Amino acid sequence: MTRWKRLSLVLLVLVLLTQIPFAYRRYKLGRLQAAIQHVNSQRVTTPDESQFAEYKGVVHVHSFLGGHSTGSFEEIVAGAKSNQLNFVVMTEHTSDNFNTASMTLKGVHAGILFINGNEVSLPDTGRLLLLPGLGAAGEASNSQPLEEIVKRGRGQDGLTFVAYPQEFRGWETTYYDGVEVYNVYTNARQINPFLMFFDGLWSYRRYPELLFANFYQRPNENLKKWDEVMAATGRKLVAVAGNDAHANVGFKIDSESGQPLIGLKLDPYERSFRLVRVHILIPKDKVLDSQSLLTAIAAGHCFIGFDLFGDTSGFSFSAAKGADNRIQGDEILLDKEVRLTVSLPVAGRLVLLKDGKIMLDENGIRKKDYPVTEKGIYRVEVYLPQLPKPARDQPWIISNPIYVR
Ligand SMILES: [Zn+2]
Repeated sequence: MTRWKRLSLVLLVLVLLTQIPFAYRRYKLGRLQAAIQHVNSQRVTTPDESQFAEYKGVVHVHSFLGGHSTGSFEEIVAGAKSNQLNFVVMTEHTSDNFNTASMTLKGVHAGILFINGNEVSLPDTGRLLLLPGLGAAGEASNSQPLEEIVKRGRGQDGLTFVAYPQEFRGWETTYYDGVEVYNVYTNARQINPFLMFFDGLWSYRRYPELLFANFYQRPNENLKKWDEVMAATGRKLVAVAGNDAHANVGFKIDSESGQPLIGLKLDPYERSFRLVRVHILIPKDKVLDSQSLLTAIAAGHCFIGFDLFGDTSGFSFSAAKGADNRIQGDEILLDKEVRLTVSLPVAGRLVLLKDGKIMLDENGIRKKDYPVTEKGIYRVEVYLPQLPKPARDQPWIISNPIYVR
């Protein structure tokens, strides 16, 4: 064997060795898929005695109107339809030249309810999601303080969410109603491109959605900030998750003629809408429309479900005092014995937090009662230890709080 041949052989062996971890990661995604199927097959739908009906949808979606997205309305409607979503909250970037909130999807299309929101940037302060959007939002970033514009323009039923909490500097203000505690795009930006490239080569064709499991991480800092602001001010702050769907995350290598050679798109709408959703609870005597949806979100009658890891529908977190029943987002007075109840669609690990501190952390829970002896802001996270790592260590459900006053 010539020296050249020997060197080539060594190189080849080295390259093959570097691929072993990625082959193993592909195998692990296969195990995750089997575990998720098992979770979904174990779901028990208890007879529904609640006065609320549950609807699922996504929040924080951009279309081509925003500038850096390529997504069309058709793709968004099709993505929502194939995910059987009930609603989609659009959050278009604003433009100095036209009103993106009035141009985006609004009302019912293909049976799906659309809210025409905006994402607005503020110099030095961060970014906000406005539901619905403001006609005047385009002017906001220039001269007038946003606080004024929000108050003037969003109307009575309008809602303001802090987007990208890590950038937000206006915590001491009171014009926001909630916090986007998780954002897919923020999380995706932490991806190691080297790992993602080889994971993509090995696993993208077979498990395109499950690649999310390789980078999904509990948003520790955002949850901490949310808990801290609520505990410090006593204010109700609604948590939502944002898909921040643009249909533009990924990478593509085109041939000289423009034909795609390698195309790895991490967030086409159909896939992005599968990862995480906001589940909303609306009184059964009301229909789902813009008003009932915004009212439910404003009340915190909603939870975040990472439905990719198993359908979170049917999760419930409630409080009872005698005949007085409340759900997540509500307040209840501790003048008599209050009991919190959590019920899960499959057995899981339940973590109950009060003012950000863990009060209970138990495995194998399907239903749990917790007598409350102290006032505080109580919320729940649910994990699925039956999934392989790393998914098992990340939250499957993040509830909104019950405020025991
Ligand atoms: Zn965005």
